[in-house]
Amino acid sequence: MAHRDWPPRPSLQAVRCSWLARAGVELALLRLDRIDPLISGNKWYKLAPHLAEARRLGAPGLISLGGAHSNHLHALAAAGARFGFATVGLLRGHAQDTPTVRDLQGFGMQLHWLGYGGYRERHSPGFWEPWRERYPAFLAVAEGGLSLAAAQSCAGLVEMIADGLAALGWDDYHELWAAAGSGTTLAGLVLGEAGRHPLVGCLALPADHGVPEAVARLLGEAGRAAGQGYRLVDASRGGFARLDGELARFILAFEAETGVPLEPLYTGKLLLALQEAVAQGAIARGSRVVAVHSGGLQGRRALDARLHELAAQS
Ligand SMILES: *Cc1c(COP(=O)(O)O)cnc(C)c1O
Repeated sequence: MAHRDWPPRPSLQAVRCSWLARAGVELALLRLDRIDPLISGNKWYKLAPHLAEARRLGAPGLISLGGAHSNHLHALAAAGARFGFATVGLLRGHAQDTPTVRDLQGFGMQLHWLGYGGYRERHSPGFWEPWRERYPAFLAVAEGGLSLAAAQSCAGLVEMIADGLAALGWDDYHELWAAAGSGTTLAGLVLGEAGRHPLVGCLALPADHGVPEAVARLLGEAGRAAGQGYRLVDASRGGFARLDGELARFILAFEAETGVPLEPLYTGKLLLALQEAVAQGAIARGSRVVAVHSGGLQGRRALDARLHELAAQS
């Protein structure tokens, strides 16, 4: 089986909850979290072109970077195990034992901890040299899977949304919402939408962390004008890994009402930003909104206790 064809098409699922009902807004989630038990979310679509490239080059494996809870490394390690590539992960910080790290080891990923200073060097010119020597012919995948090919792969998600509308009884939707980390998925959605629907990118990192520029750069590489066909909302709540009581209570209530699990850093913050827009009346009654559930639930394991703790505080 060509691995490009492997994942099932994601479903589009209508969800009902009190704050949407009050505002008369309908929401459907593109459930990328459910395409596979291990290779979850948007990460599959971003990895697919890199895996195809590794196969084309006859590369023995792939090497990439991320943190101790990284959804990207998790998907890469799982895909490597499934499709027969060796994988190497360069990790931020010092050796830590997290559920993600245990999985990476279980998938057979070779791990190297770079410390914080060493990780900060990842954009400097000589960074890859020693790794190329150590792992000859391995394909290097940028942090977060960022590349134009990855964005173009994510552009296909728009078609999958279109394909799912009929089953909901929707003839169209009014807005598309998605979280942005590296900005690759969002850039892909901009390419796929080509201006057909307003697109809102919810920044998981504060706006001055380079994500708007990364989106603009990817669009530029694709020959599109930056800043057109989408708008950005800072959904980070003060920092990428920053959690708070309001977010925790929102996530737990949403999960209880809809049965859809969220992780706090991307999809939780995305839907809270949507709820805020709805509460402010920024989304007209009768609107139909599609939001991308980009997966990442493996990363929630390490944060679950903290979420419940925060939710209990007033
Ligand atoms: C990585 C990730 C994102 C962000 O995707 P980018 O393409 O890096 O912007 C969004 N949601 C989840 C759950 C993720 O793991």
